[in-house]
Amino acid sequence: MDDFIEIRRTATKGYGVFAKKAIPSYTVILQEAPVMTIKATPADPAKREASIEEAFRKLSTKDQEQVLQLHEGSHPNAKTKATRIFYANVFEGGEGTEKLYLTRSRFNHSCVPNAAASGDEECVRTERAIAADEEITISYLPPFEDAMTARQRATILHLHYHFKCHCPACWPPNQSWKSDVRRQLIGFISYALVGQNTPDFRPLNVCQPMSMKWPFWPPRPTPSGRVLTPVQEIEYNFLLGNLRQAEGLPNHLAAEGYLQASRNLMYHQRKYETMSATKDIIFLEAARCIEAWYKKGLELEEKYYSPGHQQIRDGKKAWTTMVSRIPCLEYLRQTTRMKARGEYRPSKNGGDFAVLVNKADGSMTSLSQLETADLIRQRSRPRRG
Ligand SMILES: [Zn+2]
Repeated sequence: MDDFIEIRRTATKGYGVFAKKAIPSYTVILQEAPVMTIKATPADPAKREASIEEAFRKLSTKDQEQVLQLHEGSHPNAKTKATRIFYANVFEGGEGTEKLYLTRSRFNHSCVPNAAASGDEECVRTERAIAADEEITISYLPPFEDAMTARQRATILHLHYHFKCHCPACWPPNQSWKSDVRRQLIGFISYALVGQNTPDFRPLNVCQPMSMKWPFWPPRPTPSGRVLTPVQEIEYNFLLGNLRQAEGLPNHLAAEGYLQASRNLMYHQRKYETMSATKDIIFLEAARCIEAWYKKGLELEEKYYSPGHQQIRDGKKAWTTMVSRIPCLEYLRQTTRMKARGEYRPSKNGGDFAVLVNKADGSMTSLSQLETADLIRQRSRPRRG
């Protein structure tokens, strides 16, 4: 920890964690064992409170003193200072546990965080490159922060932690509507992709904290019963990449959308290219989208993991294999090379949606989108006699 970060007092939000020097993305900046661990009993608040009390009593005097210096929050159900502190700083620990950490608790919240805490690995990692003296933040609301509006997040943050967020997604308030629209779309799409309805966050729009039925949080998504069409799946993933990027969410999340859109389109393209009716047609427009989305995803992943990372190397290898197996991608690769050498001759009819390959002599004819559609329609018409 001493290498990268230090805890400083801030003017408005108590303590915070700051970068001592520039830190690359995807760097472990803190490895820390929890000071308290309890078994999670979400359905039984009384038992939860008793477990916290017991774990706190077992601490050394020094640890107790340090715990009591953490942010207290204002949880309405907590009876003692130690339990309020626990509720305001708790992390899910994996395997049904809840954990409290002394240093990790000093990270302030942002709805556009530049770092993330991992439950299983006991560490905090940067999610993007961080400049010297920049404050390092994590989100207190995962996994819901990217689907909620500023108002909804504010209710939870006030209720649980007793503070107002001034991150770029929340502040200034008259500008947060753009972010709100994006996050509502992100919420709708990401839940639709897994066959669920977005959890109903609306009670958070109108509630006064004191009158809110407790516990509302965390909400449970419900099955939607809707199945997306292949085209919807492609479009939703592409849009997800776009919206996450525009919202400034971590690059690997945006990359996921673009890469999944590319993979989905590639899957359907492959099906087309092995069907007998369309076997001799090379779909260039699809190939261009597959390639462009893949490159976009890769570029964002490189920003997240750094270019030489194993994940990037594996991704590139898988892509090369894929290109050699899918005719439209292979054709695109070859024409790109020809263009670079100045050998490429564009077709006379100007159609560049697809290419029809003549099996007999290997010659190629360019097709416009309309011509391609007509050709497929003709071939799929049932023959008479
Ligand atoms: Zn915020």
